[in-house]
Amino acid sequence: MECPLCGIYGQIAIEDGEVRVTFSEEEKNRARNTLAGLYEHYYEIKDMMNHVMKNLELHKNDRAELLRPYMEYAPDYKG
Ligand SMILES: [Zn+2]
Repeated sequence: MECPLCGIYGQIAIEDGEVRVTFSEEEKNRARNTLAGLYEHYYEIKDMMNHVMKNLELHKNDRAELLRPYMEYAPDYKG
């Protein structure tokens, strides 16, 4: 499994009827709450900026129309 917050990988298993997730030391050392994890995330965002800025410029005229379905999204899920 992959942590949805910081992207570290672990092994998921069911033991004695309970879900257990085990992360290796290597993966724990790149978790978001570590200095290495913070740097990894920083460089991930920094490197992504070239891609993001290019697309923002490319879609500067049709961005509102592209975003419209998301802005108008109204789930009917009632829980
Ligand atoms: Zn995490």
